[in-house]
Amino acid sequence: MSSSAEQAAGRRLLTFLREWDRGSVHVRRRMLRSFLSQNTGKTSPELELEFTQAASLFLSRITVWIRLTYMFGTCLNLQLKALGVFLSAAGSRQYLMEFLEVGGVLTLLEILGQKKTKEPDKAEALRLLYIISNSGRQYKELICESYGVRAVAECLAQSKSEETQRSATTLLESLSQGNPLFQQQVYKGLIALLACNSPKAQQLVLQTLRTVQSTVKAAHPGIVGPLLNLLRSLHLEVQYEVLELIAELQQTEVRTALLRSLVTLLKPSREGARKYKILQDPEMMKMTDSLPLFVQQAAAAKALRMLAQSSQTTSEDLIHLGVVHYLLYAMGNQEHADTQRQASLTLEHIVRSDPVVEEHVHRAMGPALFTSFMNNAELLYMNMDDVEADILLSNKVNISRELEEQKVSGVRPGCMRLLSRINTMSRLKSARGERGVQEDTALVKSRKSKPRVKEEEPSRPSPYHFFDDPAELRLFRSHLLAWYDQSKRELPWRTLAATERDVNIRTYAVWVSEVMLQQTQVATVVDYYNKWMKRWPTVQKLAEASLEEVNQMWSGLGYYSRGRRLHEGAQKVVSELGGQMPRSAETLLKQLPGVGRYTAGAISSIALGQVTGAVDGNVIRVLCRVRAIGADSTSPPVTEALWTIADMLVDPDRPADFNQALMELGATVCTPKSPVCAQCPVQTHCRAYRKVSLKQEKDTKTLLGRLDSAVPDIENCLSGSCNLCLSEGWDSELGVQNYPRKPLKKAPRVERTLTCVLQRQSDEGDVQYLLIQRPSKGLLAGMWELPSMLLEEGIPEKKHRGLLSAEVQRILGTSPDEESLQHLGEVVHIFSHIHQTYVVYSASVCVHADVEREPRTCWLTDSALQEAAVSTGVKKIMKLFYESTRELKNTKNKKRKQYSEPGKEKQAKHPRKRQERAPNGGPKQLSLSQFFTSKPAGS
Ligand code: SF4
Repeated sequence: MSSSAEQAAGRRLLTFLREWDRGSVHVRRRMLRSFLSQNTGKTSPELELEFTQAASLFLSRITVWIRLTYMFGTCLNLQLKALGVFLSAAGSRQYLMEFLEVGGVLTLLEILGQKKTKEPDKAEALRLLYIISNSGRQYKELICESYGVRAVAECLAQSKSEETQRSATTLLESLSQGNPLFQQQVYKGLIALLACNSPKAQQLVLQTLRTVQSTVKAAHPGIVGPLLNLLRSLHLEVQYEVLELIAELQQTEVRTALLRSLVTLLKPSREGARKYKILQDPEMMKMTDSLPLFVQQAAAAKALRMLAQSSQTTSEDLIHLGVVHYLLYAMGNQEHADTQRQASLTLEHIVRSDPVVEEHVHRAMGPALFTSFMNNAELLYMNMDDVEADILLSNKVNISRELEEQKVSGVRPGCMRLLSRINTMSRLKSARGERGVQEDTALVKSRKSKPRVKEEEPSRPSPYHFFDDPAELRLFRSHLLAWYDQSKRELPWRTLAATERDVNIRTYAVWVSEVMLQQTQVATVVDYYNKWMKRWPTVQKLAEASLEEVNQMWSGLGYYSRGRRLHEGAQKVVSELGGQMPRSAETLLKQLPGVGRYTAGAISSIALGQVTGAVDGNVIRVLCRVRAIGADSTSPPVTEALWTIADMLVDPDRPADFNQALMELGATVCTPKSPVCAQCPVQTHCRAYRKVSLKQEKDTKTLLGRLDSAVPDIENCLSGSCNLCLSEGWDSELGVQNYPRKPLKKAPRVERTLTCVLQRQSDEGDVQYLLIQRPSKGLLAGMWELPSMLLEEGIPEKKHRGLLSAEVQRILGTSPDEESLQHLGEVVHIFSHIHQTYVVYSASVCVHADVEREPRTCWLTDSALQEAAVSTGVKKIMKLFYESTRELKNTKNKKRKQYSEPGKEKQAKHPRKRQERAPNGGPKQLSLSQFFTSKPAGS
């Protein structure tokens, strides 16, 4: 800028600031509006440009004014939004520091605590605190040290606005992540919030608590009471969240207390029905005292069923806690049908899984009632009379006592089996710590069937392959993140993950991107992703779509089962999880089909901020090189080591960025074939690089005859029996590409398939093609294909027509003459594990719409075919068909011309030139990018 321009800009700034300083409230309001309309979304350098490198002067004025006026609410929303422009600008660390130096956090917290503050202003203040919290651990600590957790919790408890409640829970979640000093404070604050009145707030708090619980790991004993109290809620979404949290708490030390309390709730005491705040909910006040207790009783029965079904160990523990007696009692509660139904279903599960229980229940119910129970447990309550209800209410079943007595006195053979199972389970459990019973059962089975062999001492990997120096760990993180901040690619899913505030949409968006990116390159995915998210922006929208539409959208992306699983998962989230996406890696893994360990780690860290590693192909390569892991990268010890390193490395303050940075490094710098070590941000931590450098240095010195002790020996793992080291010798030509090592790939299966483009003329005169839907499972499940059949080896070409004709006859009940089937050529399509060659024929038939025998068939016109869910293989075949048809037409036209010109007959008798051949003898491979670009014949 020239000096005169600078002077002019300086004058403009002075005029602006003077106008602000001297302006009335009215003038300032106008100035703030204008500032917001012109500067929202700008970066820090852009703001500086706007304010002639002195934007801080305006920021300090807003900060001062807000401190003087927030209690009156004067232009409060505009001021908070203006502060947001500064604090959320990219590269705004300087503004943040200036704001904090003048007590910005305290001002925001005081705004939250003011009774007069309006809800939108509270939401805006919470948003600013969220931005501050996300700037790093020290800022989270600053908020917590200023009693921020309490202020936010009180604001949430008193708020009636969903926006404020949502912002408050988002902030609490952020404060709990990467903040070890105050994590417990946030966790306890959330537990206290369970007693709040608003159902929406309860739901949000429970969701946040689930995320925080997975980070905190150990559970606070004080969580049990308030959590189970929420089972009285009449709001299904609250109950759903409670049940999910109860399931997650099964892995913690409050498990026994939870089970015991749930069992006790099956026999409610009517005293103290008004003890809990939740009953002050106006809707609750209308109800009788008993109803919430019965709602809780039914929910407890349901929760117990869920837990018993998830683990046989839990089922057995519940029997010891006397659950059978309590369930029978709940089944006799004729004042509440849902309690009877839930208890009955839970008891049915336990009876069917345990013969001892069956015997006791049979005795307690009597034969007639027991038979009705076993025939239809769910509807038993509808046919139950008062006498039967009394029998259930007064039952004296006590299996746990009997089990104990039998243990010491010797028992009958039926019970012996059960006891020995229980004893085996508990022995295994105490020997190996708590594990899933399936694993235990499998172990029992395998011990029965296999002779015992002396277990070999496992070889232990050495620290050489890990990060055992905390200082190096910190440096690695900071080098990688600094590089990522500078070099990351802007990708639509990254933008969504960083900006979307609705946790369900954010998690869904990351889930879609992760599934699409499995096996497919980023460049290909971007377009598909944008279209997908435009059409199905939420999990609910995707759940409403048909599989046909999903396949159609996925068409061309390959590995079609991925789209199908996304669709299945969305339907499960909506129908079984109340529309709420799972909130941790563990639940993602457990509840979503097609989500494996990597995808769960990636979604939970990127969308939910969970501090967990994510090991995909790129990360495997980077970590194998960085830590010189050269054993088979698919072997169990290497897989476990890589996950251990990834979990250890992930940055607790920025887990999302860190995991993405590691993947980005593998995709753009540490690539499989041409790693650019010279530009690598973690080169100084890379053992593979160091090994190559030392080796080169040593070789050079050896060549020059100047080898001396100054050249260190090649670094190596010093463990004698390491199962992570290179399994074979070092190849100097490969350099760092010695890592990772993969097992030899299995050669793809070679298949030949006969296929036929079968056409007909519709009543409207259009040409239509016959398509058949593939089965709903397996390769290309649910996609549409042309009539096809696998060619067995050794079938000669002369039999092709007969086979195809018979297949068409089977499908349509009619078939073209064998002679009319025209051979068009061959098309090669490579699947990941199949080398497929389609031998393509075409023919015409004359059939009406309703004569097909095969149920999953349809006739499509050219245009409909282009929109249909067909695989790339079908597209290639149709391309060949269109080209052949066009060629045939041209030849016919030429012939007609030649016959009309004397002397050309001889030439016309020459056979038409064969189609261009590929080196493998088949027709030339068709380019995907040219699909359907040529005008179809006959159209
Ligand atoms: Fe990969 Fe080379 Fe970087 Fe090592 S230095 S991580 S081999 S790019």
